[in-house]
Amino acid sequence: MASFEIHCPTCNKKVTATTLLGGSDLTSALTSDAPIKVIHLTEDQGDHIWTIGIEERKNLANVVAKELVRWS
Ligand SMILES: [Zn+2]
Repeated sequence: MASFEIHCPTCNKKVTATTLLGGSDLTSALTSDAPIKVIHLTEDQGDHIWTIGIEERKNLANVVAKELVRWS
C-alpha cells in the first residue's frame, strides 16, 4: 500500500490516503484501466473509501514513479 496526499471527497480537503493495493499490484493497476481505490482513515468519522479519478491516477503514477510514496 502507498500513502500519498489527495483530495478526499468526503472531507472536502487534502488528506493523506492509502491505496488498497500495494507493490506490483498497484503498479499493474496504474498501467491498466483497473479501478484504484484509496482509503482515508479518520479517527471520528469512520473510514472514507473511494475510487480515484483520471487526474488523480496520473498524480499517483508520478508519485509512485518518483518513489515519493511511503510504502507500508
Ligand atoms: Zn476523508
